[in-house]
Amino acid sequence: MKIKFLGAAHEVTGSYTLLTVGNYNVLIDCGLEQGPDIFENAPLPIAPGLIDFVLLTHAHIDHSGKIPLLVKNGFSGHIYTTSATTQLCSVMLLDSAHIQEQEAEWRSRKAKRTGNNDYTPLYTTEDAVAALKLFSSCDYVTQYKITENISIRFIDAGHLLGSASIEVTATEDGVTKVILFSGDLGNINRPLIKNPQKPEKADYVIIESTYGDSLHGPRPDYADQLSKVIQRTLDRGGNVVIPSFAVGRTQELLYLLRLIKENHMVKGHDSFPVYMDSPLAVEATKIYDGQLNDYYDDETLALLAKGINPIRFDDLRVAVTSDESRLINTDRTPKVIISASGMCEAGRIRHHLKHNLWRKDSTILFVGYQSQGTLGRILTDGVKGVTLFGEYVQVNAEIVKLEGISGHADRDMLIGWLNNIKVKPEYVFVNHGEDKVTEGFANLLCKYGYSAEAPFNGAEFDLIKNEKVLAGNSVKIEKKDNYKNNNNKPHNNATFDRLLSVGQRLLTIIDRKRSSSPKEIESLTGQITTLCNKYENNNK
Ligand SMILES: [Zn+2]
Repeated sequence: MKIKFLGAAHEVTGSYTLLTVGNYNVLIDCGLEQGPDIFENAPLPIAPGLIDFVLLTHAHIDHSGKIPLLVKNGFSGHIYTTSATTQLCSVMLLDSAHIQEQEAEWRSRKAKRTGNNDYTPLYTTEDAVAALKLFSSCDYVTQYKITENISIRFIDAGHLLGSASIEVTATEDGVTKVILFSGDLGNINRPLIKNPQKPEKADYVIIESTYGDSLHGPRPDYADQLSKVIQRTLDRGGNVVIPSFAVGRTQELLYLLRLIKENHMVKGHDSFPVYMDSPLAVEATKIYDGQLNDYYDDETLALLAKGINPIRFDDLRVAVTSDESRLINTDRTPKVIISASGMCEAGRIRHHLKHNLWRKDSTILFVGYQSQGTLGRILTDGVKGVTLFGEYVQVNAEIVKLEGISGHADRDMLIGWLNNIKVKPEYVFVNHGEDKVTEGFANLLCKYGYSAEAPFNGAEFDLIKNEKVLAGNSVKIEKKDNYKNNNNKPHNNATFDRLLSVGQRLLTIIDRKRSSSPKEIESLTGQITTLCNKYENNNK
């Protein structure tokens, strides 16, 4: 029984962990690395076709975004997650595929002009559609036996609609261990969703540490804070531009804006317009309108019982097409604009920044975590000017960071969550935090009597012996390019890799047939022989 850390080790994005129990290979999350990369993800040590299952903690792309690539390269097992995560992935993975296709197309156009070869997208819409067919929805709390020696249980992580911590109960050679993956843990008292559920038992814990070095402070009155920012900006005649993740944070903002409007908390600007400018946010918001009784908190359920939609109000306007998006900036009415991406690295938000950063009367309001090196972080750090679409833009707008509205638990909440486990785990692995934060948080846990460390990508541990097998790679890297240039290769490598992966999978299936009946073995042998003969004859 082994665990291998492949991603989000000493960094925040690209969650990717392999658990091996006997013959079974289970991936916990399969996330895309986003923003500046500091450490290289470890390569998957086996062919994707040899992964038996994926367990997915939540829909955020840094946890789910590489699933279509895994499927493209030969994975065909079940992807277990909650039903809300399945629904959110159905829009988020398609959106991600669309971004990959657009980026590859843009790079190919550029490459053509310089006489270079085409780029292939990391994966396509077709790959995302194939991946979505493998999703298998689970309820919270219920234990599911997925193999003779592995059971899984999802508990609410309170981070995003459908988010979960996953408890894996695994048996190998008569020894049973409970391995608990925290996933991203939520802040408490968030709009719409419940607080993180308390874990009960674990021999090993893999815990995130995004805010492992800081405290959110006393819980602010978000609606009050937000209304004050809107009030002073609209009074000046400017716009409030909110870079926001399209899924989760945007719906929380809509919840707060409904409250603000309902209680007339902004004076003198009745019916101020609120624009949701992101096709993904619009699609995701439709999911929030669905049947989600298992996911919403009591307050939200009470509103729904009264016939109030918690995230809809008059004056909410949506921009789906790029023409609708452009029109937002031609209309001079002071307004609130919510747009993605949340860290300003891509998407329509960059257009709104171009139109508003130079304006003294506008406000750029940050409501989420800003990763090191992102445009969002640079702006919140107080830069005086930035380059957008090749143009220098002065920063004259008010830059505000709404404190405490984080979607992640802070240091003490993380420790509190861990302390719920009655018998201290044998070992705690700290991941999903910036380099020094993971180290610091692991050291802090040691001070509290835990055995803990922050493993690097590639580190491997034997969970039966409770010992490290491989140390992992602590060397920092430059940002690696995700896109493959097809450099005169005779065939599409990804397609061939997939064939190779399926071949390796077949060998594993054969290996597992040792104890099957002679009839079954003969039947399989016959089928494989037919296939081999067919392709050998084709090549003659
Ligand atoms: Zn997340």
